[in-house]
Amino acid sequence: MDAHEIRLKSRPHGEPGLDVFELAAVKPRAPGEGELLVRNRWMSVDPYMRGRMNDVPSYVPPFKLGEALEGGAVGEVIESNAAGFAVGDLVLSMYGWRTHATAPAKAFQKLPSIPGIAPQAYLGVLGMPGLTAWAGLTIVGELKADDVVFVSGAAGAVGSLAVQIAKLRGATVIGSAGGPKKVEWLRSLGVEAFDYRAESPVDALKRLAPSGISLHFDNVGGDHLEAAMRAARPFARLIECGMIARYNDVGAPFDQRLFMLIIGKRLRIQGFIVFDHQKQMPEFLAEIGPAVARGEIRAEETVVEGLDKAPEAFLGLFRGANLGKMLVKL
Ligand code: NDP
Repeated sequence: MDAHEIRLKSRPHGEPGLDVFELAAVKPRAPGEGELLVRNRWMSVDPYMRGRMNDVPSYVPPFKLGEALEGGAVGEVIESNAAGFAVGDLVLSMYGWRTHATAPAKAFQKLPSIPGIAPQAYLGVLGMPGLTAWAGLTIVGELKADDVVFVSGAAGAVGSLAVQIAKLRGATVIGSAGGPKKVEWLRSLGVEAFDYRAESPVDALKRLAPSGISLHFDNVGGDHLEAAMRAARPFARLIECGMIARYNDVGAPFDQRLFMLIIGKRLRIQGFIVFDHQKQMPEFLAEIGPAVARGEIRAEETVVEGLDKAPEAFLGLFRGANLGKMLVKL
């Protein structure tokens, strides 16, 4: 059996290079009692994985050096020693970054077969990134129809669902993205958009939201967060989902000057982690699943082929190489 995994060879300092990854040949273990052997077909690369490469305590433990990385994956059962799972079943797990995984059946979730829904959607629009957008915007952000919403990183996996949910709920939506192609795609979804490489976020928000924003869904941080704070109306809510512009920083200074805006504008800044909303997954799927199947919500994918290309796909997230969800086909 031709099986491989990608290991973390060394911890990056600043922006990671390909040299921190190592591709290794492995021999998958036969499944014991209650276990499955799964051949992965898709794996996810996500910005949060950058944080797990650092040896610091966080809401998820760091990746271990010399061991396979982890992340979302969709695979097919090729051997089953567990009740309720048959060869050919499609399953979701956290055993990404490898072609094969042997583990207890409880580590795998059987995926439903729904017309109009591709299995890899459970790594994107109907998976962790999708739940992040939905929970962050509607539960944490308390999205309302009269909100003026600014979503940064709007053409990515989380951002592109966030802008569509906000639009469907009647809000006025502005999204930022890098490059004209992404901006054009966002406009095709019926939302205002700007290219932050061509126009500063501060200037763009002055132009597109002259009376200010009431809700910010932040995927980027940095100059985007600064622009959101400057454009914020009194009592605006700022939902901190991610700050990808800062993930490769080394010892960045903490600048408190901007934070004075919080006082005068009475801003509410709330961070959140998607895992806190796992119990709301069924409610999320019931609302968003049918909308995706009917084509009312568009979910783009950028697909890179082959496990050996997974590190490049991951690093591409920090250069904006993806429109929609970045996926690796295995
Ligand atoms: P994306 O699909 O949005 O991919 C990352 C995108 O970030 C890139 O395509 C790029 O788009 C943009 N980007 C990269 N570097 C910069 C930069 N320096 N300045 C501006 N934009 C940049 O990833 P996800 O949708 O998976 O994640 C989006 C955000 O949500 C991330 O910050 C992630 O960490 C966070 N997140 C948080 C979760 C939580 O529980 N709080 C859960 C899941 C994700 P462009 O071409 O537009 O620059």
